[in-house]
Amino acid sequence: MSSYPPAAPPRKTTLRQRLADLRGPAVPPRPLDARSLAALAANPGCGRRALLDGAGVDKGALATALGSPAAFGQSQFAIVRGNSFEAKVKGDGGAELLRLAHARLGGAAEPPGPDARVPDLTAAGPEGRAARTALALREATAAGAWTLLDHPMLALEVAGSPAYLEPDAVVVDPDGRWTVVEIKSFPMIDGAADSAKVGSAARQAAVYVLALEGTARKVAGAEVGHRVVLVCPKDFSNLPTAALVDVRRERSVTRRQLDRLTRVEELAARLPEGLSFDPARTAGELAEAVSAVGAAYAPECLAACELAFHCRERAREAGEVSALGRSVRGELGGLTTVEAALAAAAGAGPADDPTAAALRQAARLRAEALERPPGPGPLGEDACPC
Ligand code: SF4
Repeated sequence: MSSYPPAAPPRKTTLRQRLADLRGPAVPPRPLDARSLAALAANPGCGRRALLDGAGVDKGALATALGSPAAFGQSQFAIVRGNSFEAKVKGDGGAELLRLAHARLGGAAEPPGPDARVPDLTAAGPEGRAARTALALREATAAGAWTLLDHPMLALEVAGSPAYLEPDAVVVDPDGRWTVVEIKSFPMIDGAADSAKVGSAARQAAVYVLALEGTARKVAGAEVGHRVVLVCPKDFSNLPTAALVDVRRERSVTRRQLDRLTRVEELAARLPEGLSFDPARTAGELAEAVSAVGAAYAPECLAACELAFHCRERAREAGEVSALGRSVRGELGGLTTVEAALAAAAGAGPADDPTAAALRQAARLRAEALERPPGPGPLGEDACPC
């Protein structure tokens, strides 16, 4: 017998609703910026980060609510120093920056002269600025003249929504090639800079390259350079110098990660109903929610993700060898915990595992070295095993 009025059909949860539930009812989605998109490429194996970023969760607020706030981001001093260096590089109507770009990219093109263009990109809101930037890029390509776009606004579709990104500059050369320029305040000494900092700048620039490619597809004759111009202070001075950085690898990794974000629906579907990362919940509830999503902690997270302290603590508690670094993790193969590695060294590991055999051998050599009395050995060598 049917009841009247008929029972309402069960509410079908849309992806948008599901992601809102994950963030918390009163929490607006946190837009992705170039740094957060670039950080995705720094740890491509982490499903936790992919889900949290895809759902627009504020990871900084989540880390604080978990009791592990991240000391993350640039210091005020570094920001002021970076801004002042950028202003110096772009001074004089961008003449110095265009000269550096020509020196690195110019090829057969004439150096930028007084006819070089620096279009006004002012417009209302990020959407308006992105449209103004797209128009300026189209006009610069058609004009075939050196053009500097100072702080253009680029749009990149991420998981179905536009993310607005603002590189330091984009240079258009007379051949119609668009090149991203990143201005950093870390020094380039004898033509080389800190490789970790260059890697981070390359990942960030790769995000801009992907965004530019979306616009370039609609402009005849446009081409996006996969080498970006990195401008830094020369040696220990405040004078700018530049180098080209090839970002093809970073671009591919970021592209794959962005495709993964569009599958955030699959990641969300695997989570239990009612799970939420709402910072208003208790630390215990949040820790449980976070642990429901697989992570891939590595020490590199400390420089790239707000949840790093929380994930490091959990990785250490679980005795994961990944907490010791990716190289150690790679060397140990199938032995994923410190306990398993120590057991293998003690002879209790899998008999046919070459890693376990190598650990047994290393443990035996260590024990022999420690048993030897101090002083010169029978051949006169020192007792030190190395
Ligand atoms: S800190 Fe945690 S969530 Fe962030 S990338 Fe590393 S493992 Fe993933």
